[in-house]
Amino acid sequence: MRIIPAAEIHTAVTEAIGNIAYGIDPLLKSALERALAAETSATARDVLSTLLENAAVSGRARIPYCQDTGTVVVFAGIGNEVLISGALLDEIINSAVSDAWKVNYLRPSIVCCPLSRTPNSGDNTPAVIHHRITAGDKLHLSIALKGGGAENMSAIKMLSPTASEDEIIGYVTEIVTKAGGKACPPVILGIGIGGNFETAAMNAKHALFVPLDSRHPDDRIARLEQRILQAVNATGIGPQGMGGKTTALAVHVITAPCHIASLPVAINLQCHAHRHCEIIL
Ligand code: SF4
Repeated sequence: MRIIPAAEIHTAVTEAIGNIAYGIDPLLKSALERALAAETSATARDVLSTLLENAAVSGRARIPYCQDTGTVVVFAGIGNEVLISGALLDEIINSAVSDAWKVNYLRPSIVCCPLSRTPNSGDNTPAVIHHRITAGDKLHLSIALKGGGAENMSAIKMLSPTASEDEIIGYVTEIVTKAGGKACPPVILGIGIGGNFETAAMNAKHALFVPLDSRHPDDRIARLEQRILQAVNATGIGPQGMGGKTTALAVHVITAPCHIASLPVAINLQCHAHRHCEIIL
């Protein structure tokens, strides 16, 4: 059994949150630069240039990349040979979120009661934490600061099991079109296909952690991802909804076995901020 002290996890999570609130994923920067080179619309080019300039200033001046600091989402892979000492994992993560928010002067974005909309928790806790047990002696944390604008435009639908790939593409395009500029495009699409109601949504979220430049190992799914990307970019919504070829930068699909009578499809939209990281301890 390998023991990981609470303090080690706390420090790693606190630092990671600070880094992703201010820094841009290098793969995202490359994707925005490629989009800028490909765009022919002057407005789209202007928006993409502004996004890249915003990223540069954010990193240089330590100013949050976006005023919407987001909900902290954590996928925790806990090795079956790991023992966390000193506190429960969720307590450690929430304590780290609280400290990161204070140290970095990030906007507290979480209300305790979704109906009364008050009080604000004051430190952006609680994080949304998903757990799974993995083999080995490592603790793997995938962390995202998920903006509300893009999350609000996410959707799930239980399609007929006879639905074709064209119908799936049509549904995704419908949701992205409905989102328009509200999801702060260019977006990244995480799509869960199969499973049941909740696993499709979880897989859609988890798909957002797939590296932007990676290709699905299954050729059929990889082709579907490309077809969805082309269809979404053909909508003309463009960067920030101002028109152009770049509505989405990447599409990643995670599939799961499902009931013979079901075909759930969940779409989690991620905005251009795409603040996320991986920690392995
Ligand atoms: S959706 Fe993303 S880019 Fe838009 S306001 Fe929220 S964090 Fe910022």
